Amino acid sequence: MLKTSLCFILFALFCARVEADFILSSETLPPGGVALLCWQGAGTPHDLLKVAFSGTAQPLLQRDDRPCALVGVDLDQAPGLWPLTVESMAPSGTRHRSLLSLRIEGVERPAQKLTLPKQMVTPTETKIVQQIEKDRKRLDQVFKRRQSVHFSPPFIRPVEGEVISAFGLRRVLNGIPKAPHNGVDFRGATGTRVKAMAHGEVALADNLYYTGKTVILDHGGGLFSLYAHLDTLAVTAGEMVAPGNKIGTIGSTGRSTGPHLHMGTRLGKSRIDPLALLALFADEKH
Ligand SMILES: [Zn+2]
Repeated sequence: MLKTSLCFILFALFCARVEADFILSSETLPPGGVALLCWQGAGTPHDLLKVAFSGTAQPLLQRDDRPCALVGVDLDQAPGLWPLTVESMAPSGTRHRSLLSLRIEGVERPAQKLTLPKQMVTPTETKIVQQIEKDRKRLDQVFKRRQSVHFSPPFIRPVEGEVISAFGLRRVLNGIPKAPHNGVDFRGATGTRVKAMAHGEVALADNLYYTGKTVILDHGGGLFSLYAHLDTLAVTAGEMVAPGNKIGTIGSTGRSTGPHLHMGTRLGKSRIDPLALLALFADEKH
């Protein structure tokens, strides 16, 4: 016990000097929140080697010649004080490992009750159950991809329409509690152009059972954006897109109650709030 405490104290002392040189845009986040960690020290910046939160490596990027990382918190992250580890290398070649902390606040999420056709909520037909399982495996594979970072903030809002369903709402479908809303819904008429939020590769452009016609962009570093219930797809898998490129049009395909755009964003395994990601760089010009 004494040994553990001593190690911790020594580690904390060792880290204190380095910790001060990295700064988080926010030290408290809600589940689904996102922050930017950047070098803030004087002199030549350390190179960032790895930033990990909750066991997940976070994407590293350069911002105004400073090494930075996007840090995302999953929708289901429990409240409390959680460690954020930062591995960096000084210009001398010395490696440093610092331990920062991120406070996750508890958030009361309102419930949203929806009524949908029975087959969309509790599917029993073998063909549909198999399709859902196949879709799930495909999505798992997509979100495992790790390319080098393609994106450069700020990010583009994919449509102009207002938000009609917020991130994280508890969903009650036909009276049955379901998984919380893992994205944000934007209002929009069928046929409205949907734009890519950033540079990326089309990782998936296909029709899935729940999300209907769906596009997933791989922005590199584990950052993905997903656009669902589209009426038409304007891209194919493997294609590269630039911010603002048309990727499809708003529709109501899949499990949907009417035309709208469902947008989801992920950082590795973490489902993050697209609006939090857009807001993080909102004061920057495209
Ligand atoms: Zn949605």
